[in-house]
Amino acid sequence: MVHWSPFVVSFKKRYPWVQLAGHAGNFHAGEYGRLLKRYCECEQLCLSKLMGDTLRPYVPGYYGVVQRDEQDYNLMDDLLADFDSPSIMDCKMGSRTYLEEELLKARELPRLRRDMYEKMVAVDPGAPTDQERAQQGILKPRYMQWRETLSSTATLGFRIEGIKRADGTCNTNFKKTKHREQVMQALGDFVDGNIQILKLYLQRLKELRSVLEKSQFFRAHEVVGSSLLFVHDASGQARVWMIDFGKTVPLPALLTLDHRTPWMEGNHEDGYLWGLDNLIDILSTMLPP
Ligand code: ATP
Ligand code: MG
Ligand code: MG
Repeated sequence: MVHWSPFVVSFKKRYPWVQLAGHAGNFHAGEYGRLLKRYCECEQLCLSKLMGDTLRPYVPGYYGVVQRDEQDYNLMDDLLADFDSPSIMDCKMGSRTYLEEELLKARELPRLRRDMYEKMVAVDPGAPTDQERAQQGILKPRYMQWRETLSSTATLGFRIEGIKRADGTCNTNFKKTKHREQVMQALGDFVDGNIQILKLYLQRLKELRSVLEKSQFFRAHEVVGSSLLFVHDASGQARVWMIDFGKTVPLPALLTLDHRTPWMEGNHEDGYLWGLDNLIDILSTMLPP
């Protein structure tokens, strides 16, 4: 009789998993340093294609669709698995965070929205026009476009969504972090003034940029609402990955993007590389000469 010895599976040490954006119920821990994210077809298609693209080292490894409690999930690498008490930052890339098709949809049934008007006034009482004030309501497309001007999305082509530092402090209140100096302050806080970490991030972002410029996938997709996930820890390792492809859609046939040309409705440009250029420039100026 043959006795098989059981496989030895070395589980990584447990740590509280951290999620900086999205709905809390959308993620579950998986085995072997993987995680489950609530299924979205768009994301499945992107991650599958990315596994065969030059961008593969810059996205979480993807293992297909799995079911748990009758719900479908995309199974992917947990990017925090190799870190010890990591510091994490989610940076949402691009000069807008809605798709062209969402804008078209918002226009289909033009309706004055009082709820959006009230949200706008709560943030900035001076934002509504005289007409909007008289109507006590605004149209959704106008609200969507106004919202992008609050953060650095419209002016720098990226915005910080959240930061969790190794000491446990977490900040997801960057909705009005707009100006270069404010962004620099937040980035400096995130790396805790560590120049070495800053250098590693800068190097990784430059590598990513040159791979993006050559990627077949990137050229052929409108990339909206996707983030760069920054992760470092006390051991000195610092890495960046692209995550969240729930709003990354293939372009109409024959159309390609350079991701830098300013957006005009119909050209699908998303400002992703323009934002990355700005981010790289900001990090560069934070390093001593
Ligand atoms: P939203 O669209 O509102 O940004 P979402 O539900 O699409 O949210 P993601 O943005 O993909 O979710 O992820 C939310 C957070 O979960 C990220 O900010 C990050 O903290 C964490 N996260 C996502 N994917 C991974 C991953 N592969 N490894 C580690 N952490 C991840
Ligand atoms: Mg996200
Ligand atoms: Mg998303």
